[in-house]
Amino acid sequence: MTSKAWLSLGANIGDPPAQLAEAIRRIGENPDIAVAAQSSVLITKPWGKTDQPDFANMAISIETTLKPIDLLDVLLGIELAMGRVRDEVWGPRLIDIDIIAYDRIELKTPRLTLPHAHAHERSFVLDPLRQIDENVADWVLESAARPR
Ligand code: ADP
Ligand code: MG
Repeated sequence: MTSKAWLSLGANIGDPPAQLAEAIRRIGENPDIAVAAQSSVLITKPWGKTDQPDFANMAISIETTLKPIDLLDVLLGIELAMGRVRDEVWGPRLIDIDIIAYDRIELKTPRLTLPHAHAHERSFVLDPLRQIDENVADWVLESAARPR
């Protein structure tokens, strides 16, 4: 069974647009994932912790046979392989890959929240997402507004 998922990518050290391209190449190389659509690259001001370089952000949609948690593991593996060091929350990063949505699934587990817990309040996530799929961007906002 194939599912659809929407990913947000961000980077702000090294050569950020090149790192986004490299991450997408690695995602597409996975036998269980096909990249379906890509937004343009947006250059944005850092969010949360503001004394750090600007970010390059983009969104992609994928088709995958991986379950959400297995997709998360693949993406975290790509982050690690590309040299990401997890030190400070919201700090500078070589590459960050988040799952914004997976089909229309809503879930909250210790390792994974869907849709992504902060997507609805971040224009650097929603703007590129809207470029590739307006309906899912609206759904992310509706899901966040719904009492749960
Ligand atoms: P952030 O992306 O919020 O800046 P990290 O990339 O360091 O922070 O992610 C920390 C953890 O967030 C991951 O190890 C993962 O378990 C968890 N997480 C929860 N929901 C999601 C999601 N939708 N997409 C990606 N990671 C998620
Ligand atoms: Mg992340």
